[in-house]
Amino acid sequence: MSSYDSNNIFAKILRGEIPCDKVYEDDHVLAFNDIAPQAPTHILVIPKGQYTAIDDFGANASAEEVKALYAAVATIAKDKGLEGDGFRVIANTGTNGGQEVPHFHLHILGGKKLGPMLANAA
Ligand code: AMP
Repeated sequence: MSSYDSNNIFAKILRGEIPCDKVYEDDHVLAFNDIAPQAPTHILVIPKGQYTAIDDFGANASAEEVKALYAAVATIAKDKGLEGDGFRVIANTGTNGGQEVPHFHLHILGGKKLGPMLANAA
């Protein structure tokens, strides 16, 4: 993955240059509703640090940042009532993963039965 592009849209959201529909925030994490939801609940969870993708985050984030991200997922899932019926977390990564925004983010999807993991099998 290439170096971090500080002009990506999530960097602009973190700097407050464009708005978001915020659902959660702490020292290390911001979460907001996806602008084009793919499920009744579709929330993006992003670290505040400048990480391009999950591999960059896993290799370079502090233990505190990693813990905060997973704890945020748990808090959001509980707050949104997703625990009982379940939900899906996706981290699209790079070109083959279909990543559009080069700031690491987790998609939390829920609120309906989501079906097979991939639309098209290999
Ligand atoms: P990905 O393909 O994993 O990089 O996903 C990027 C996601 O960001 C898509 O689901 C978009 O709908 C979402 N998105 C793009 N711009 C915004 C925005 N300004 N606010 C909220 N979500 C956005």
